[in-house]
Amino acid sequence: MAFSTEVLRAALKKVSDRSKAAERDYELKREAAYKTNPELQQIDTDIQIKASRMTMCLFSGNTAEGERLHKEIAELKVTKDRILKALSLPESPEVFCPQCKDTGYVNGQLCQCVKDIASEMCYATLISQMPLDESKFENFDLNYYRAEKDENGISPRNQMTAVLNVCREFAENFPTGKNLLLTGSSGLGKTHLSLAVANVVLKKGYHVIYGSAQNLINEVNRETFDRSGSTEKIDALNTCDLLIIDDLGTEFSTQFSVSTVYNIINTRLMRGLSTVISTNLNIKQISEAYNERVASRIIGSYELCTCFGNDIRLIKARNAKK
Ligand SMILES: [Zn+2]
Repeated sequence: MAFSTEVLRAALKKVSDRSKAAERDYELKREAAYKTNPELQQIDTDIQIKASRMTMCLFSGNTAEGERLHKEIAELKVTKDRILKALSLPESPEVFCPQCKDTGYVNGQLCQCVKDIASEMCYATLISQMPLDESKFENFDLNYYRAEKDENGISPRNQMTAVLNVCREFAENFPTGKNLLLTGSSGLGKTHLSLAVANVVLKKGYHVIYGSAQNLINEVNRETFDRSGSTEKIDALNTCDLLIIDDLGTEFSTQFSVSTVYNIINTRLMRGLSTVISTNLNIKQISEAYNERVASRIIGSYELCTCFGNDIRLIKARNAKK
């Protein structure tokens, strides 16, 4: 799973903050316990004295005395444990992840708990920007699409049932390295479907980036021309598990935007990383708006999902007025 350094850094900080908070919390509870149970302090002092005497015995070769002290210390520890247990205070601060003991690393590798937090953070970010909760497969209403065939002999409802199934399968079987191209005019539910895909894939714990083509290009532009030398945003677009580009073709077309779109699409294809593109353009219009290279990359490697029907937003608005 690929998360940007920015996200991973934030996730690691969360792991460390959580552990520090647990330590502070434990210290407070411990202090309170010692205040109300002075015998705890006495036991600690006794253990300390006996331990240093035991060390001296070991050095001087007085094994019998050493063993006696060792036993006494063990008994004191049992008493202390009993008191702490009665106060429901554990022996040490709470550890959230037994794998990495809240350090964030196992054998020099990032622990799964950090990746889980990173994925939760991505989800939280996306949900704050998009109506993720309203856009699920379960509430994609096929009744908005006419069942009767149109002049081309196509039933929009049948066609959209097929598109819905392709998107659902794509999300449920993720990762498969497949790519989707959702085409069709505005208001046919393309954004709903791509958000539904994002929803399922995010919940599986993958890193998903979702953005309109214009916003993604703006971000790449900003990073390319600022002086920090940072490539974090571009790296994230090229390495996230799933990239969803909404509304391709509505952005302001420049040589920069065309080459940015090509680079992202091409890099992700070479890496076997999935991309979902939604657009109002058909393939011919894509090759006119961009170039043959972009169009041929898409034709060769994306599953085409053509949306049919009438503008759902208009129908919904009309129904709301009734
Ligand atoms: Zn961990």
